[in-house]
Amino acid sequence: MKKQDNELMDKIVALCKRRGFIYPSSEIYGGFAAVYDYGPYGVELEKAVKDFWWKRVVQVNQNVVGLDAAIFMHPKVWEASGHVSGFADPLMECKNCHARIRVDHALEEIGVLADEKMEVDEINKLVDENRDKLECPNCKKKDFTQVKKFNQLVRSNLGNFTDDINKEPVYLRGETCQGIYVNYKNVLDSTRVKVPFGIAQIGKAFRNEITARQFIFRTREFEQMELQYFVAPETDMDLYEKLRQDRWQYYLDLGLSEENLKWHKHENLVFYAKEAYDIEYNFPFGFSELEGVHARGNYDLSQHGKFSNEELIYTDPKSNETYIPHVIEASVGVGRTVLAILTEAYTEEEVNGETRVVMKFSKKMAPVKVAVFPLLKNKPELVAKAKQVFDDLKIKYMCEFDDNGNVGKRYRRQDEIGTPYCVTIDFDTLEDNAVTIRDRDTMEQSRVSIKELHSWLEQKINE
Ligand code: ATP
Repeated sequence: MKKQDNELMDKIVALCKRRGFIYPSSEIYGGFAAVYDYGPYGVELEKAVKDFWWKRVVQVNQNVVGLDAAIFMHPKVWEASGHVSGFADPLMECKNCHARIRVDHALEEIGVLADEKMEVDEINKLVDENRDKLECPNCKKKDFTQVKKFNQLVRSNLGNFTDDINKEPVYLRGETCQGIYVNYKNVLDSTRVKVPFGIAQIGKAFRNEITARQFIFRTREFEQMELQYFVAPETDMDLYEKLRQDRWQYYLDLGLSEENLKWHKHENLVFYAKEAYDIEYNFPFGFSELEGVHARGNYDLSQHGKFSNEELIYTDPKSNETYIPHVIEASVGVGRTVLAILTEAYTEEEVNGETRVVMKFSKKMAPVKVAVFPLLKNKPELVAKAKQVFDDLKIKYMCEFDDNGNVGKRYRRQDEIGTPYCVTIDFDTLEDNAVTIRDRDTMEQSRVSIKELHSWLEQKINE
């Protein structure tokens, strides 16, 4: 199926709601823009993504350690990082319907090169030059306010017992990596890591995103998985190349196909960056950023050194050389990864004149691995045997027991949540202690003895 299908996104959103993957936040109150809740299958998918990332990034790398820093941090962190003064997106408003428009994105959509780092005057000039082509995505009018920069940091009143939220605001973190930078010295002093080493973290981040479109691609509350490597200045670009290769391979191993991935090189770099690439995925709305892989020089530790008056330098134990480590990073959103996996998996097939919707998740990502059915609900001996098989399998795998409706209906439901194997207990099972296993993708059925069920599934799920 063609991935640039305009309807594909609507179909994915509908399936996510219908089958319990993702719901709009606070839906009974009319929803809450750009915030989503993960339902029973979404949460399993999210967990599989995070486990896969952690294993690949932390568990198998001796020189990478984990961290879980708090969401709230000292307000100075966000001054040092440049977020208070510079974490701003260009915004304009439609004078007719008051829709807010992210200007760099609107310009890019009409083929004009722009990005959020441009100065306001520069962006206003581009808007003036392209006035006839820019239209409001909501009401299609072409009358806009001047462009302003809008800071994306989300403020809170934590520890502020006055009514004035603007008085010394405490921010909800705008990215997880600042928690890593401020703990660089703690980790160095309390563990046995030596440069080059990495610190990895998975956690929530918050941004006042101007436009709330594209489902879970861009949300105001989201989760990031970030790896920050601290490296010697002269080795950073070699290690950066290696990290780029690792990250590409990671997505292939995750189950995304190579034709849906591509590199995007940043031409307009922030002043401290040495090189920046994004890995883009072919989402239903086209190729867009999935992950950023950036070589950041020593900006982060230098800034925190200056603002905190702590010396964030490293002394090489062999050469005694001292320096501020450079940072190379790989940063990705959990939600964007989930959306890539959903896009990759969504499949429609014609079967006997009907459309079969099936989520062809890779087996390691599938939220439910095995479903167990008694052929008939009203035969207690079948139900008891099926329960026995289910109780045995559930210790090892995320399993579902289903005795509702006919088997065909149960298959359709399991197809839509992407369960790779359905195990049916029928009358023959009571005689021969064997079950029928139906494969999600081929729909072929095999007869397997209950004794061999564990090893059969183990081999298939890990193949
Ligand atoms: P974009 O240009 O799409 O706004 P960004 O370049 O600001 O993204 P980074 O600050 O580099 O993103 O964040 C790293 C990763 O975090 C992104 O590659 C993306 O996967 C994820 N991410 C960033 N912002 C959001 C968001 N609002 N919603 C969901 N995921 C996000």
